[in-house]
Amino acid sequence: MPDILVVGSLNVDLVVRAPRFPQPGETISGEDLQVIPGGKGANQAVAAARLGASVSMLGRVGKDNFGDFLLDNLKSNNVDSQLVQRDDASTGTAIIVVDANGQNSIVLSAGANGKVSATDVEHASPLHHKLLLLQLEIPTLTVLRAAQLAKENSVIVILNPAPAKELPDELIALTDFIIPNETELSLLTGMDVNDLSSTEKAARVLLERGAKHVIVTLGSKGALLVDKETSTQVDTFKVNVIDTTAAGDAFIGGFASVLDSSSLLDAVRYGCACGALATTKFGAQPSLPTKEEVEKIINT
Ligand code: ADP
Repeated sequence: MPDILVVGSLNVDLVVRAPRFPQPGETISGEDLQVIPGGKGANQAVAAARLGASVSMLGRVGKDNFGDFLLDNLKSNNVDSQLVQRDDASTGTAIIVVDANGQNSIVLSAGANGKVSATDVEHASPLHHKLLLLQLEIPTLTVLRAAQLAKENSVIVILNPAPAKELPDELIALTDFIIPNETELSLLTGMDVNDLSSTEKAARVLLERGAKHVIVTLGSKGALLVDKETSTQVDTFKVNVIDTTAAGDAFIGGFASVLDSSSLLDAVRYGCACGALATTKFGAQPSLPTKEEVEKIINT
């Protein structure tokens, strides 16, 4: 049985670089299309597997060519795909335009991701994994059910509340680790998050709502680990930033892959190294680092 179960989304990212965003009704020329495997669930699964963890993915893709493409991609990254079903809906797709400044404009079509159900997770139960990784690109009720089943089976629950939305306390209270970025933390709590002290204050609200640990990712400022007794900022690594897509996914996959074998602070530091490395390459999954790359940056 793989150590890590990811219950979440699988998307195809259709990426075109263009000099600028088109106006309504306007057609402009872009560069050649790039078709890149993505989706927060699959990104985090691949991130952890590339670092040597044994990972299984539960989700849905369409019966279309993109579905085949995403399943092949999981296999080539050593992610177990037995729990990924084929659905009549289209495979989840993100249509992404990147302008000359590196800004993204994205239309997300959830497709089959919107069909991942509580029953899908119940069929996979009892869960014998060590750790469950969740995000919010599938229905929240499914996320909640997965967290409940994990708790019943003594599986550690990590929730990345992205894309940002408000959540029931019941879900927050089932998490061992909730890992938002600053924007997500602000939306979750309805509080301003703009410096370390306001970040810690908002994180403490999530602790009061039942989370055991909160880890806020802070981009180039690293991460803040907050639990009942402590609050610790962990620095990230200096890198040449090309594209920050999937930095958060790399952080979470990296953190999850070593949590079992490291101290908490070392696991956060490892996540920071993974996030930093992911910003040095373009795209989502192509930018997720290998174990060798992470060890090199940590040891230099
Ligand atoms: P998200 O991609 O979800 O918005 P962040 O931007 O906070 O998440 O990035 C996740 C992690 O990646 C951060 O905690 C940090 O360790 C690392 N990271 C992100 N941007 C940079 C950067 N510019 N330099 C170094 N590390 C970075």
